[in-house]
Parts: sequence; C-alpha cells; structure tokens
Amino acid sequence: MTETKYIFVTGGVVSSLGKGIISSSIGKLLQARGYNITIQKFDPYINIDPGTLNPYEHGECYVTADGMETDLDLGHYERFTGIQTTKSNSMTTGRIYKSVIDKERRGDYLGKTIQVVPHVTDEIKRNIKLLGQKFHYDFVITEIGGTIGDIESAPYLEAIRQMKWELGKRAINIHLTYIPYLQAAGELKTKPTQHSVKELQSVGIQPDILVLRTDKHIGDDIRKKVAAFCNVDLDCVVQSENLPSIYEVPVNMQNQGLDAAILRKCGEEVKPTPELGPWKAFLERQRKATQEVTIGLVGKYDLQDAYKSIREGLLQAGTYNDHKTIIKFINSENLTEKNIAEKLAGLDGIVICPGFGQRGIEGKIIAAHYTRTNNIPTFGICLGMQMMVIEFARNVLGYTDANSREIDEKTTHNVIDIMEEQKNITNMGGTMRLGAYECAIKQNSRTFNIYNQEFIQERHRHRYEFNNEYEKEYEKNGMMCVGRNPESGLIEIVEIPSLKWYIGTQFHPEYQSTVLKPHPLFLDFIKTAIENKKK
Ligand code: GLN
Repeated sequence: MTETKYIFVTGGVVSSLGKGIISSSIGKLLQARGYNITIQKFDPYINIDPGTLNPYEHGECYVTADGMETDLDLGHYERFTGIQTTKSNSMTTGRIYKSVIDKERRGDYLGKTIQVVPHVTDEIKRNIKLLGQKFHYDFVITEIGGTIGDIESAPYLEAIRQMKWELGKRAINIHLTYIPYLQAAGELKTKPTQHSVKELQSVGIQPDILVLRTDKHIGDDIRKKVAAFCNVDLDCVVQSENLPSIYEVPVNMQNQGLDAAILRKCGEEVKPTPELGPWKAFLERQRKATQEVTIGLVGKYDLQDAYKSIREGLLQAGTYNDHKTIIKFINSENLTEKNIAEKLAGLDGIVICPGFGQRGIEGKIIAAHYTRTNNIPTFGICLGMQMMVIEFARNVLGYTDANSREIDEKTTHNVIDIMEEQKNITNMGGTMRLGAYECAIKQNSRTFNIYNQEFIQERHRHRYEFNNEYEKEYEKNGMMCVGRNPESGLIEIVEIPSLKWYIGTQFHPEYQSTVLKPHPLFLDFIKTAIENKKK
C-alpha cells in the first residue's frame, strides 16, 4: 500500500461501549490481511497523561516500553495485536494545548491570534499523522476518547472532518453506538443511535461504518432501519453483541465482514478472508478450559479496570494451562491477622497488587506473611514485591519497624528506600522510573528457569526500590535477590526458592503479556497454582 490510510473510531450514546476492543479488533483483522498497522488513542481531558489520575477515575495506568503513562486501552491494543505502542500512541488535550502554548511562547506563530481552529485542530491533525508519516503504516487507527456530544471532543471532531475532506477515501469514520433493549416494550431501540449519528453529521462527519453495541441480537430489520436513517450502507452496519470473552470480538467482527467493509470504503482490494489460525486456536482452548483455578488479587481498588493488565495476564495464562482463571478481589484494607485465613481460604494462588501510598498496605503485609508461612503460591508485583520484602524483614530478620520510606520516612529499617535519582524530584507527573529497563537474572534461580533467559526487558513505574544494603542479610535468610539492573544495580526480582512459588518483581510483567505471547511468569505462576490446588 502506498499511502497511509486513517481510521477514526468514535463512540456515541454512552461511554464504556468498548471502543478500545473494537479498535484492537480492527487492528488485528487488518494485520491478518497483511497490513502494517498501529493504533493510537486521543483522550479529550486536560491532564498531560493519566499518570496522576486515581484508578477510580480512570482505571489502570498502562505504561509503554518507552516510558509513557497511558490509557488502559493501549493495553488492549498490545494484547490483541502484539504491536509495541509508544509515547506517540497516546495523546491528551493537555499535551495538545501544551505544545501549542510552547510554540506560541517560542514565537512560532508570531503575529497571529492563537485559536482552537486552526491552531489546536492543526496540532491534533499533526499528531494524528505523526506515526503514519514516521513509520509508513498502511493503516493508522485513531480512537477518540469520550462520547460524541461532549463539549471537550469538539476540536477532535473538527480535525476528523478536515482530514476526511482532505484525504477522501484515505480517511474513514467508524462510529460505535448503543442499541438499548427496553424490557417493558420488548423492543430494541434505534433512536439514540440516530441522534448520535445526527450529532456527528451536524459537525460535518458522515460515519462510514456503524458498529452497534447491544445486549440482544439485532435482526436485519433493525439493521436496515439504522442504515437507512443514518445514511450508511447496509453491509457497513455490524453488531457487537455480548460475548463470553473480549478475544472473541475480532472473529465476530470478521464473520460480519467489518474488515472487508473497511477495505471497500478505503478503496482497497478485498482479498479472501484470512484464517486467524493461532487466534482461533487460543479461543478454542479458552472455550474448552472448564476446570477452574482461583486467584486472589490483594489490592485496594475494588474496581475491575484498576488491575486490568494483571487480570488479562492471569486469564491468558489460565487458558494456556487449560484452566479457567477465576479472579477474586480481596480488599487489603479489610485484612487482619484474625481474618486472613478465612479471607484467603480456597484460593490457589495470590497476587499482591501494585499501588501507591499508605492505604491498605498493612493488609498486604499480613497477606504476604500468611502465604509465605503457609506456602501458598504468591506473586508480588511492584508495591506487592515491596510488601513481601517488608514482611520478610519484620518476621524473619526481626526488624519489627521495617518499612518503605514511602510509608514511614523515619523508619530505622528502610528495607525499601527512595531511589537516588528520585530524591530531588518535586513534580509528580511523569517523573517516576518509567518504561522498559534491562534486568539480568541469576542463573540457577527459579526465575531464570521460568524465563530461560539471562537478560530480559520489563516495564517499570515506581519511585522506591529494594535497599541493597540489606541484600546479604536477606540472602542469608532465604530470600534471594535474583534479578538486577546491570547498570544501576537496582534489585528487580526477589524469590524464596524453598517455597512453591514466592516471587516478587519490582517491574510490571503484566504490561507485556499478550494473547499470542503470554508472559512466562504468569504461565508458571498459574501452573503452580493449579498444582497447589490438586494437592
Ligand atoms: N509505590 C511504590 C513505588 O513508588 C510502588 C509503585 C507501584 O506499585 N507501581 O515504588
């Protein structure tokens, strides 16, 4: 393909329809047809990035290999397509405005009044095109956050309108809307979709394709009605029903010809539909896996999306072990020495989750103590690893006041300390140790056998670290420091080899687990949890 084509995915009626899943599925289907694709997300909020947002507001913060804190949809993009996203795959209104204002101060627009149109819209367009120009992708899929009709998405819609006008068939809009089912009337209702499309049309955008999200199957009569009222070809109206797994969505979209419709709209030749062999094999395995393995997530955010990538990593690993992973959330704030046995009863493995700040950390320490002393497979991730380290100091090394400097600045046994380079940092946004770093794994360790590799790259998001002054003491007592950054010497992995599975990582392996390339740590953790269950 000679020139990059642009697919804009917008959402209407309500939020949370799964634009990220649809964008990822489109990426997957075009890849299967041999196209080189990327997916990016533009979020209309003013924050520079979601790094400073509470997970309750925004769900998990996903970290790219090049160290950008981004929206969790980028996790879907990577898990579905195996692409590696970058800083340029995630944009916010805050960054757009910052760039415009920086240019204004530099004098780039000297003499001009800076306005939303054309300066902000031009900056949006420049950023939309950036990746395509740099890497010559065949398709750049751009997901616009929010819902059509929000005041804040107006500049993005104007940018899309202009690009569609400038590029003709090289730019198309796919609009994802909702068809509610009214129980009382016993009917599916198309009016909200009609209104949402009208809203788009009122700003000069005619959607090329409609994806109708629905809880009930939509018959041809409704599809015809939507097509006619919204000016969209009938074969360009597809439906996205509830499915047992998000990974079924690409196949469902392919069966309805979504990828073929996209190619037709873009003026590309439509070749025979590709097989999706390995993907379907994964789905087959997922459907067949009926035996269960139950994993407890010990964390403080009682919200599905807060630990999205960890959940997906565990589910994928379950499938590859021919089991269905059942995930139970355990609020660490409610854990006490007294109730811990009861709260963790029936769980085959425990993940101690990442996090920040004081709330709920004593519960995580209690959980780490219980699983260590009862030999329950345990995976500590980032703050979770730090809590394993603190627990060991308190109960094995005998430092009852051991803590992290994040929690107690004055502790005499700061087994987790602030990283040297973090000491003089005062700004909160984008200043953590972020992105992929190398880690060297000690041969003969449990972790080495899992990775089967000495040097690995994993992604990070933290300010505190294992205090290397205590390393010898830990090792003497059975907790081994088996992964280390070769340059800085920072300790990245600890394990207790005498236990079934007790491993903590300072990095976040969940960001790299994909459907077709599940992460070795999750695979092995789940495998051990299954063995633990059988015993
Ligand atoms: N709060 C801890 C730190 O900053 C852990 C961060 C995390 O779990 N991502 O080091």
